[in-house]
Amino acid sequence: MIYFNIPPFTGKETEYITQAIQNHKISGDGTFTHKCNEWIEQKTGTAKALLTTSCTHATEMAALLAGIRPGDEVIMPSYTFVSTADAFVLRGATVVFVDIRPDTMNIDETLIEDAITDKTRAIVPVHYAGVSCEMDTIMDIARRHNLLVIEDAAQGVLSDYKGQALGSIGDYGCFSFHETKNYSMGEGGCLLIKDKDHIEMAEIIREKGTNRSKFFRGEIDKYTWVEAGSSYLPSDMNAAYLWAQLEMADVIFDDRMRSWKTYYELLSPLQDSGRLILPTIPEGCGHNAHMFYIKAKDLEERTALIRHLRANDIASVFHYIPLHNAPAGKKLGRFHGEDRFTTVESERLTRLPLYYGLEPDTVEMICEKICEFYR
Ligand SMILES: *Cc1c(COP(=O)(O)O)cnc(C)c1O
Repeated sequence: MIYFNIPPFTGKETEYITQAIQNHKISGDGTFTHKCNEWIEQKTGTAKALLTTSCTHATEMAALLAGIRPGDEVIMPSYTFVSTADAFVLRGATVVFVDIRPDTMNIDETLIEDAITDKTRAIVPVHYAGVSCEMDTIMDIARRHNLLVIEDAAQGVLSDYKGQALGSIGDYGCFSFHETKNYSMGEGGCLLIKDKDHIEMAEIIREKGTNRSKFFRGEIDKYTWVEAGSSYLPSDMNAAYLWAQLEMADVIFDDRMRSWKTYYELLSPLQDSGRLILPTIPEGCGHNAHMFYIKAKDLEERTALIRHLRANDIASVFHYIPLHNAPAGKKLGRFHGEDRFTTVESERLTRLPLYYGLEPDTVEMICEKICEFYR
């Protein structure tokens, strides 16, 4: 059986977890958490990175920091994971969905401005497959309308837009280190903060509304409850697992990129003959080989393709059911404008196996089976 995903493991994880235990630091904000935070700050050039228990929680923190309140509106694509919307609807906001571009499956930046009302507070671009949204346009719209930009960069760790790391361009950026992402800690994520004036409040929200982070740095002599907050700190054992991956981030990156390029090369003839569509990487977008997807003609052909691969012991998966078609999406959001691409394009897409350590022979075999299907 060829799995769709195998969580990344580089070899040092067990040793580092043992170290965390020997340091008597299995709760949050220990040595490994600090190492990961600093590494992310240095790699992305953001003012502050704070590891969290998930990308969902990083997005919740961003919604709290943004002061999102009942009645506010937040613009995002409907073609995304539920967490993108959950973080804002939990604060009572209405999500306003905008159509995607069929080439990248990202929010269509040319449709955002028309969806803005006097209730709009933020734009949430989702960098699908680790390929950047058109950030120059999005940042310009946000500036002109005085809106916040919160990047869902769950899939975009170590991707960039014109040389700027994804997650570091908007006011806040959210990474995921879930086991299905490029770099993992089982469950985990990170909040990136662009403006250093927002760091203190982020630390407070993350630490149950207390100024405990300041206390641990010796900046105050006792800590207390200062704001409404929650607990978004991951265990240092999880951070130890992540640290083993970040240390070898280049190796993981190159390995995934090799698989991605092999898929692209071997499936290009099918794209050239008009049988299927491969991912588009726009000029100026440096991607991280998070995902390799193909788009079949329609839902029926995709179903047959997935069945053909399954019959050959190859797991391939599709996602997402557009949020505006889901029960919660109907209740808590609305689609602005026409759904030209979101639903139809989502029904064509299939993701192929891609993980650290996927063998080149296996990629070749998968491509062969896809070619066989189209013969
Ligand atoms: C994985 C993912 C999330 C959620 O990440 P968690 O760390 O599991 O909370 C959010 N948005 C997108 C686009 C994702 O791919």
